[in-house]
Amino acid sequence: MAFVIAQPSVPVLPVAGGEDVFPVRRIYCVGRNYAAHAREMGSDPDREPPFFFCKPADAVVPIPSGECVAWPYAMATANLHHEVELVVAIGRGGERIAVEQALSHVWGYAVGLDMTRRDLQGQMKDQGRPWEIGKAFDRSAPMSPLLPAAAVGHPGRGAVWLDVNGVRRQQGDLADMIWSVAEVISRLSGWFRLEPGDLVMTGTPEGVGAVKVGDRIEAGVEGVGKLSLQVT
Ligand code: MN
Repeated sequence: MAFVIAQPSVPVLPVAGGEDVFPVRRIYCVGRNYAAHAREMGSDPDREPPFFFCKPADAVVPIPSGECVAWPYAMATANLHHEVELVVAIGRGGERIAVEQALSHVWGYAVGLDMTRRDLQGQMKDQGRPWEIGKAFDRSAPMSPLLPAAAVGHPGRGAVWLDVNGVRRQQGDLADMIWSVAEVISRLSGWFRLEPGDLVMTGTPEGVGAVKVGDRIEAGVEGVGKLSLQVT
């Protein structure tokens, strides 16, 4: 048996401090996981259980730590938004995972941007249609290198921040997540069987906003890392 076309390459995320890479299978994203961001998006955070959407694995754009990376982007949107998020990398699969066991399925953590075409997402919401064109577009998930949980543990608190051209836009704390990493994994694994290689983007604090060509984005999660890139 042979492939009839060239086999697509597996998307990877580099592991910090070496030559190793983490193969990406799926990217799950949590919607509205910080109360102030839920309010800025027009919903009541106290009433909503977590909900999930996906990006394709090859939406990942590895951003080497501390470097500036040119990044072709401004396509099909007049309102490209940044959302800085803690990214969880799953190293061990499972389904219906108990909250108490959930962190044992985590391989490591990264900083990611859930880039969003807010205008198209809004149109799809209004029409009751899927969000893909607003959320799951090419290169919509730039991420820092992964840090192994074996080295850094499981961050339960720490600043989550994002600057555009040196001005602070987003500022939150992991402790402010409505659903913790363990709870997110537990809930998600009730809907989908998690497998090694899955990434989970855990939601963004308030302050989301637009970027344009030429803007420089710097973002980080305390204890996990940071990334720096320019929109081109
Ligand atoms: Mn998000």
